Amino acid sequence: AKLDGPGGLQFFQQHHHDELVREQRMVEQLELAIEHRELSLHYQPQVSVVSGRIENLEALLRWQPRDSSSFVPPGEFISLAERSGLIHRLGDWVMEEVCRQQAAWRRAGFSTSRVDINLSGRQMLRPDTLARFEACLERYGLTPQDIGIELTENVLIEAAPLVLEDLRRLYHRGVRIAIDDFGTGYSSLSYLKHFPVTALKVDRAFMRDAPKQPEDRAIMEAAIFIGHRLGLEVVAEGVESAEQLSLIREMRCDLAQGYFFYRPMPAPDIQVLLGGTAGW
Ligand code: C2E
Ligand code: CA
Ligand code: CA
Ligand code: CA
Repeated sequence: AKLDGPGGLQFFQQHHHDELVREQRMVEQLELAIEHRELSLHYQPQVSVVSGRIENLEALLRWQPRDSSSFVPPGEFISLAERSGLIHRLGDWVMEEVCRQQAAWRRAGFSTSRVDINLSGRQMLRPDTLARFEACLERYGLTPQDIGIELTENVLIEAAPLVLEDLRRLYHRGVRIAIDDFGTGYSSLSYLKHFPVTALKVDRAFMRDAPKQPEDRAIMEAAIFIGHRLGLEVVAEGVESAEQLSLIREMRCDLAQGYFFYRPMPAPDIQVLLGGTAGW
């Protein structure tokens, strides 16, 4: 009954309708985004907590529609791409672009960093995604150490029956496999025993609250401990302050990623950062 009055059900239906129309428009735009060259990648460095050295880059997808002066937040368009199935095309584009870029960096003599890509649920549920990944590495003359993958625990567990064999093969070939947003999934920790992974990325929610909340500190500490006991590399996400850095340093976390060090940035800025001038 509450829904009937002004601002009630009708408002809800209208609002819902508008939302659907907006989404449909966005899907149509996103379908053309590759053709229209509206996609790009930003790269965010991960640094060694001990030395500050850049060890790794995470590739993050950016979409700027050509009639727009700003980027659509990935949180918005990636979930839309997941729901509409466009994620396969976008994901293939990301894979190809990261390999192309990494190969160019390698040719130009940047020996430093791996680049990691994010693989989402629907991508992993397509059984040939990892085979495509390997084919892409090969096509660009890259080694398995050049590009890593990041998966959330939920994605890993849902996709495991389909992809476990492929994941094991990648693992044995030396591909870095990181659990993204660690600590936010629904499962028990026992999956860590069964799945071939090399790194944990502790979700940034814990980092955000760690300076003030002893519980979050405790969880981070425990995550780092268990990661190390399992021989995994541990990354803290969302490091925004010197205080947070000193916390994870005390905890002996391996790598840190966050605005305190670097924001995600386009490839030319990465090149400046890595100090290269040759080759492009
Ligand atoms: P994610 O994989 O957890 O990526 C980290 C996000 O944290 C990025 O947001 C990054 O810009 C942001 N971030 C980094 N440092 C800080 C910090 O110090 N503070 C705060 N508040 N945020 C920080 P972004 O780029 O907006 O991406 C959001 C999500 O979209 C990603 O979360 C990932 O799940 C997804 N995504 C991005 N690119 C791709 C892609 O190529 N493929 C797939 N499947 N998903 C992607
Ligand atoms: Ca990630
Ligand atoms: Ca993350
Ligand atoms: Ca996330």
